[in-house]
Amino acid sequence: MIGVRHDAAIRRARRRKRLAAAIVLALAVSTVSCSSEQPQPSVLLFVYDTVRHDATAPYGAPTEVTPTLDRLGREGLVYDNAYAHAPWTLPSHVSLFSGLLPSQHGTGVRSLRAADELEMLAEAMSAAGYQTRAISENPWVGPEFNVTQGFERFELLPQGTSLREFEAALDAALADRDPKRPMFLFVNVMDAHGPYQPHSKGRFVAPATTPADVAAALKTLKKAFCSRGDDIAKWRPLWWQMYLSGVRDADDKLGAAWRRLESPDRRVVTVATSDHGQAFGEHHLTSHMFSIREPLIRVPLIVHGLGVRPTRIADAVGSINVRRSILDWAKASASQGEEVPPLPEAAGAPGSAPVVSEYFDTASGEIAEQSMLLRLLGMMRDQCTAEDRVEGDMRAVVRHPHKLISYTRYPTELFDLDTDPGELHDLAAKRPELARELAAILDAASSAAVDASQAADPSSETLERLRALGYGPSDGAGGEAPAPP
Ligand SMILES: [Zn+2]
Repeated sequence: MIGVRHDAAIRRARRRKRLAAAIVLALAVSTVSCSSEQPQPSVLLFVYDTVRHDATAPYGAPTEVTPTLDRLGREGLVYDNAYAHAPWTLPSHVSLFSGLLPSQHGTGVRSLRAADELEMLAEAMSAAGYQTRAISENPWVGPEFNVTQGFERFELLPQGTSLREFEAALDAALADRDPKRPMFLFVNVMDAHGPYQPHSKGRFVAPATTPADVAAALKTLKKAFCSRGDDIAKWRPLWWQMYLSGVRDADDKLGAAWRRLESPDRRVVTVATSDHGQAFGEHHLTSHMFSIREPLIRVPLIVHGLGVRPTRIADAVGSINVRRSILDWAKASASQGEEVPPLPEAAGAPGSAPVVSEYFDTASGEIAEQSMLLRLLGMMRDQCTAEDRVEGDMRAVVRHPHKLISYTRYPTELFDLDTDPGELHDLAAKRPELARELAAILDAASSAAVDASQAADPSSETLERLRALGYGPSDGAGGEAPAPP
């Protein structure tokens, strides 16, 4: 299955992609002719990179951390149990764009480059008549990894882009927009992603914090993965304050993008979410690799602009459901991921489908052979023990409130997230029937759809940018394990 070349699957995927493009074009033409129908909305898909759900106002953080998301949430739909399908950027975004699980699309699993055969969201939107634009601050979400398929224009900005520079890039991206056609705008912003800097405005950093505190906190964070040191608890509050400061900067960019997309005669549907979370010492974890614990995969998800009653929705949902919904709102069609249901749009809607999230070990196997970067990243785990469960492949299924995690290296775990949100009390031995039932769902959820066998190691320029974000060996750090995505 995984790692096995599957030529027939590739041919099928290519055929499907050609056929789907033809069908979608025909549908787009017929949609244009029925002008009495409600016009296609413009769609803003905004990814706050690395933002866990509880760092945002709709999920318990103070309003001033994410004032824009708070407003959109109060006027729209808030998904209480939303998940990323992977704990790191590349496979998570390809799931969002392709409607496939990482084990199916293979990106970040068997290859670093998304397969050409994948039918990406922007391609389907373009075929449905949309103008398609993207701004990304994360090099993993860029042309080098082939995730930009379908965007007419794709602007890659550096991490640390100021609000003013971001607004200028947005204005440039939208300058020649045709107001008669709907717009699909995708944005990824990196303000909440490490490495954390002493925040310029210190928005949420306690006033008494000294530069020496910040330096000590960042030094501890670098070595905190699997650490049992007392200094973890000491510095965690400051890590969190620096993190929230970044989340606020990201939220300001959401506001800027949302305001620019508004137009007097066309509805705008906004989806704001994240590609994964971030750990700050939970289960001895930091960053967001080598685990699929809740802090790493549970994300905010807000939908605004549908004209439905504002509500909170408890069903477990994932980003593949987001893709399905965007296609539906846009009256776009795609043959890939057809079986994936759209997001429920009212509380109590039937069909609480389970959500699967996957992590495949990037530091070993075929993908590691493609990339020195990923092999070096594996060094992060040098001080880990079996108790940390950070080796090998792992897959989880959440059928709220239960979550089952299946590992290649460790026994299966089962948790009740309602009574045990910290995943501390394994119920696998107590509830063997439930564990078997969820394991069967997990087994059925994966089938090799497309083999992404096109190897790609980042160019030296991209490698430098990824290293600056903490991927790869730290500069002059004397053999220290690299900090992560
Ligand atoms: Zn990310």
